[in-house]
Amino acid sequence: MNALPPLNPETIKFLQAPRRMLIDGAWVNAASGETLDVFNPATEEKIATVPAGGAADIDAAVKAARRAFDDGKWTRMAASERGKLLWKLADLIEANGPRLTEVEVLDNGMALNPAGKLAVPLAAATLRYYAGWPTKITGDVIAPDPRMPGAETLTYTRKEPIGVVGQITPWNYPLGMATMKLAPALAAGCTVVLKPAEQSPLTALILGELVQQAGIPDGVVNIVTGTGEAAGAALTAHPLVDKVAFTGSTEVGRLILKAAAGNLKKVSLELGGKSPFIIMPDADLAKAIPSAVYSSFFLQGQNCMCSSRLFVHKTIFDSVMDGMAKIASGMKIGPGLDPTTNLGPLISSEQLERVQGYVASGRDEGATLVTGGKRLPGKGYFMEPTVFAHANPKMKIVRDEIFGPVTTAQMFDTDDVDAIARLANDTDYGLVGSVWTQNVSVAHKLAARIRAGTVGINHHGPAGNNAPFGGFKQSGWGREFGKEALDLYFETKTVFANL
Ligand code: NAP
Ligand code: MG
Repeated sequence: MNALPPLNPETIKFLQAPRRMLIDGAWVNAASGETLDVFNPATEEKIATVPAGGAADIDAAVKAARRAFDDGKWTRMAASERGKLLWKLADLIEANGPRLTEVEVLDNGMALNPAGKLAVPLAAATLRYYAGWPTKITGDVIAPDPRMPGAETLTYTRKEPIGVVGQITPWNYPLGMATMKLAPALAAGCTVVLKPAEQSPLTALILGELVQQAGIPDGVVNIVTGTGEAAGAALTAHPLVDKVAFTGSTEVGRLILKAAAGNLKKVSLELGGKSPFIIMPDADLAKAIPSAVYSSFFLQGQNCMCSSRLFVHKTIFDSVMDGMAKIASGMKIGPGLDPTTNLGPLISSEQLERVQGYVASGRDEGATLVTGGKRLPGKGYFMEPTVFAHANPKMKIVRDEIFGPVTTAQMFDTDDVDAIARLANDTDYGLVGSVWTQNVSVAHKLAARIRAGTVGINHHGPAGNNAPFGGFKQSGWGREFGKEALDLYFETKTVFANL
């Protein structure tokens, strides 16, 4: 292995300092004194410990958020001022780019490119997008209803922040997830308790430092590290929390719903996916093939949009498989900090075992292994990017979200858009889909028929932080990004005045 470039002094300083969590503007240990170890998945070495927050810490954080909401210091702040603070936070993210990038790579395993060129700049961009919203929040004036009492009346709506929000994020894209949750909530005037994933909590803690530096008042953003079972469950069950926003697995999404039932919290959920990537016979393969590889193996396939069900027309099936195998087998696997790495490690040994189990199941069920499949010897949770051909919808590798570098390809032999859409829609999920063709009619007909929150035409993945992103079916409730995410953090109040 090449020697890795030296770490930024700021990164070293951060990793050496004791890590605490942010409650009511103070950096504190868990009330229990317990901690969780944080590992670098490329080396299996411990890189930090964080407090193992539990119910008592969540209670303190929720109460702080409640006070910060109820005393109006955030909700009644001038809208332009709230926007300014969010913009300032974006500036600070950029200024701390090298440290955030390196800590993200060490903690999560992602390669330098997605961390430094995507995750960090997009985190700043998302905050800037939402920094523009506080000054543009308006209600409506509603036409008078002559059946209502009063000779002259006025009815209008107010968009009021929902209150205290609990936000729970997964390990796969930590800073991006934290900022895409925080930004719309803060823009709307809510206060927040954020629980990042236990496996990659570090950049959320840096974000906490930057929230303070930006001048966002104490208690408005609280960050509690800990496990889902302890801290996460306490947050979703807490009676003073008005809303829970969750990104993670469909399985935990169901637990969140149950826990939220106690005080009927509002809930939004961004869950799993099993996204179709449809390549029509007339597609520009010079673009479709590299994109299929990229969207299958971005973040080692540990991403909810992963193009894990490829549908390829019979006439081009073999050339697509050959092309994908060529690119995938040439990808450089290694520690994210190596600037030449394309594919970092998976997050943990459990995840690697799980994904290896799916590779075995794909073989057992009769899919053809086109490339990859193996884990790498030595330290770190590395495995090869893997493509299975001749998959069918009965196979586990086609039905389950694998959340690893494994994609499946099915062959189709029709140009009937309804038949193709039925194949694409044969899944419990509905997060993303894409169609690759030069034919605009086919493209838009399929876009209308695919049951997913985002459909790309000659593109796979989100459309930008100003366009809604989220799931149909079991991929979730509500949307991230754009105005739709902001709307999830408001209550609408109708005011009727008999003048
Ligand atoms: P996960 O196991 O569902 O965990 C997500 C978060 O929920 C973590 O912070 C976790 O805590 C916490 N949690 C676990 N049990 C909980 C409980 N009982 N109550 C409250 N919180 C609980 O998901 P993951 O393994 O981290 O991430 C992978 C999943 O996320 C995949 O299914 C993927 O598709 C989905 N995902 C979806 C999107 C999207 O936008 N739709 C984006 C990315 C990922 P711990 O710290 O203990 O893990
Ligand atoms: Mg987990």
